[in-house]
Amino acid sequence: METIKTIKAMRESVAAARRAGKKIGFVPTMGALHEGHASLVDAARASCGWVAVSIFVNPIQFAPTEDLASYPHPLEKDLELCRARGADVVFVPDVNEMYPPDRPRLTDVSIRELGDALCGRSRPGHFTGVCTVVAKLLNIVGPDKLFLGAKDYQQATILRRMILDLDYPVDAVVCPTVRESDGLAMSSRNAYLSAGERGQAPALHGSLLLAAEMIRKSRPPAEQVVAAMKEFITARAPAGKIDYIQICDSESLRDVPETRGLVLVALAVRFDKARLIDNIVVE
Ligand code: AMP
Repeated sequence: METIKTIKAMRESVAAARRAGKKIGFVPTMGALHEGHASLVDAARASCGWVAVSIFVNPIQFAPTEDLASYPHPLEKDLELCRARGADVVFVPDVNEMYPPDRPRLTDVSIRELGDALCGRSRPGHFTGVCTVVAKLLNIVGPDKLFLGAKDYQQATILRRMILDLDYPVDAVVCPTVRESDGLAMSSRNAYLSAGERGQAPALHGSLLLAAEMIRKSRPPAEQVVAAMKEFITARAPAGKIDYIQICDSESLRDVPETRGLVLVALAVRFDKARLIDNIVVE
């Protein structure tokens, strides 16, 4: 497995794989890798002859008040996981490589209302940062397939739409959320939880299962489902402060009053140092 730090070397490595007739799979990440990320590498490995992972903590998707400075960087461990799961290349550019200080970036890729919904309300500009870096990474790697996790449902929806709107010749594959045995969605940010908070955090997934059960059983108004979820989380995760719980159309991400059709139930809850998100799609 190669570790590559520059855009030029990355382009050369991809070009060599292309000349060898390989199909290119790409898994962008911010590192602090866990089994959720590993499942994306496995999926890429299963359908592509050459697999690239990127590890880049993208500063432009963090607000000044957020956790950029404390985001974990266990690089050796991450490289070990990539090697063990069969990645061919790991691209680890530093921030000056992606955003040269002598050439301030004048271009942004933003996605209008899809980026303002859900997490966009409490993280203004976040998805512009995500779209901009993924657009750059797609231009550097030029993959056939891009592997994303359903844990970040809004992010995957936005990137799928960006790919369509900007005619990127890449297929986006969205892989299921990988969870701990108690249901908590795996996340690099789970490391910020205290032992007490970690004990309470599975209530987030519990509330989503409750919502799914209510919707499947009787299709109550969205308001009723949200109220039941709030009560569930408040009782079982008192250390968490609910940022949002929303029931949306699974494509447009617009709030829906009724729970008919395919609906996305999405939430974000803040603990002391960690803001956790999770979701479920209910038919
Ligand atoms: P991140 O490093 O958090 O930016 O995530 C990189 C990719 O891994 C994104 O496509 C995420 O959706 C995906 N991912 C993160 N956590 C999980 C999980 N628990 N299950 C599946 N995919 C995940």
